[in-house]
Amino acid sequence: AVAALGHSVIPTVNKLQDIFAQVGKESTIELPQVAVIGSQSSGKSSVLEALVGRDFLPRGNDICTRRPLVLQLVQTKRRADGIEEEWGEFLHLSGKKFLNFDEIRKEIEAETKREAGGNKGVSDKQIRLKIFSPNVLDITLVDLPGITKVPVGDQPSDIETRIRKMINLYIKPPSCLILAVTPANSDLANSDALQLAKTADPGGSRTIGVITKLDIMDRGTDACKILLGKDVHLQLGYVGVVNRSQEDIQMNRSIKDALIAEEKFFHSHPAYRDLADRCGVPQLAKKLNQILIRHIKTVLPVLKSRISAELVSVAKEHASYGEISESKAGQGALLLNILSKYSEAFSSLIEGKDEEMSTS
Ligand code: GDP
Ligand code: MG
Repeated sequence: AVAALGHSVIPTVNKLQDIFAQVGKESTIELPQVAVIGSQSSGKSSVLEALVGRDFLPRGNDICTRRPLVLQLVQTKRRADGIEEEWGEFLHLSGKKFLNFDEIRKEIEAETKREAGGNKGVSDKQIRLKIFSPNVLDITLVDLPGITKVPVGDQPSDIETRIRKMINLYIKPPSCLILAVTPANSDLANSDALQLAKTADPGGSRTIGVITKLDIMDRGTDACKILLGKDVHLQLGYVGVVNRSQEDIQMNRSIKDALIAEEKFFHSHPAYRDLADRCGVPQLAKKLNQILIRHIKTVLPVLKSRISAELVSVAKEHASYGEISESKAGQGALLLNILSKYSEAFSSLIEGKDEEMSTS
């Protein structure tokens, strides 16, 4: 279901992100990632899952996503014996391979509880998860708690403000691509997603509109005007999707079946026949892929100069340790080494081979 990237530019970015997360300097470098935003139960987690092509996120018609989930997809090589191996690894349980994706969901739920309690509380502390698979796009996705207006359970009275702030933190960096999710059965004029995206990205250069729940619109209505951008214009446009309903989830309908059902829905619906390039999860993946590559190309020079600056400061720090701390110097040298390597990788990426950066 998910288009693969033809170039190693994103694994390089992901590795960098890892390194900076390890050394605690994450905030000094803003790397491109994709964040899903929208109101609660608009279908954010469902969209992410469909893009990944696996079931592993808590979903439902209640507040499920209560901590930011930073999801790093890592494309692995296809095995010669044809066996497809896919697994997940959490940063907080590093070294443990999760081969069972139900276990991944359980661990997300358990880890959410550990930090945000059992009663609908929300925390801004990240959960970091890597999914290794030959079938994914190399990309970092962030699943965020949805906007809610009325505090329930352990939520503080200012829950809406808090969640808005949290979302803003992720989508403010100009390098973040925003998937603004709005259900088709609500008015676009009331869209929390579009409102937030507009504030963070006023020019609309990095916001993709995602319209979910096309299957449960009022009879006699369709989303054509929305998808064509006639209601609220978005520079990068809209993609409409049909994800699994709560009933589908309860009946354990697979993602594969859901994608087939989605395709069938769009094929059989006369209104969407002429909008094939704006309909369906595969189209969303394709669009994302293209935009991401364009985006990375434009931010690479900035990243490069930031990394160079970081390199200089690490080198200075390293020199100043002198003979005081052997182990610290060792650490510095190691970091310096890793940074040099990636700095070189970035240089060669910027300096050419444009054709290698196109999608395959
Ligand atoms: P989130 O809170 O934004 O992450 O939303 P979820 O992905 O958890 O979905 C909320 C509920 O809406 C779940 O019960 C989903 O099954 C349902 N849902 C999501 N997308 C669609 C869709 O396209 N069609 C239908 N019928 N239900 C959907
Ligand atoms: Mg969710």
